[in-house]
Amino acid sequence: MPRRTPLSKAIPPLFLLRAGECCPQCGEGTNAFALLVSGLYDGVEDDTFNGFILLKDIKYLPKRFLAMLTEHCPGWRFDREEPSEPACLMNHCLRCAAKLTDTHIHAEPGSAFYPTSPDDCRNISVYLLPVEIQVRVVCGWSSGGLTDWLDYDLAKSWEALAADPSPTL
Ligand SMILES: [Zn+2]
Repeated sequence: MPRRTPLSKAIPPLFLLRAGECCPQCGEGTNAFALLVSGLYDGVEDDTFNGFILLKDIKYLPKRFLAMLTEHCPGWRFDREEPSEPACLMNHCLRCAAKLTDTHIHAEPGSAFYPTSPDDCRNISVYLLPVEIQVRVVCGWSSGGLTDWLDYDLAKSWEALAADPSPTL
């Protein structure tokens, strides 16, 4: 049996990002979501990284935390890119249900969570999550670019997201 991936811990304040994205399958506008944290204890590295960090390839989140997110983030749910791959928290097109993989929305320059300039960040809404404790997570992460450019002081409340579920496009 392979060794289980050690849990990491996301350090609050925690933010939800919502961005408009163009579906590669149907070409329609849809939403994509991502988690951004204020620091991370990385269980694999056994080290704590401070500063704003964008999470991706999320393979585990506590049930209650996940339920809170998915209630207000349509199309964001665990799914597998390929049947042989482990399940990840993945965005799906609101129109045609196509998979919007993290490889696409986090790693293609110009895509939802890979803005190429501070100006590009206008496409991204930032919401402050009502969570004040560290959250267990298994994930990959990155920092720089987007994490430096967002204005966290302008983060909207979680209630604001609940009140405005409409697509941003
Ligand atoms: Zn689509």
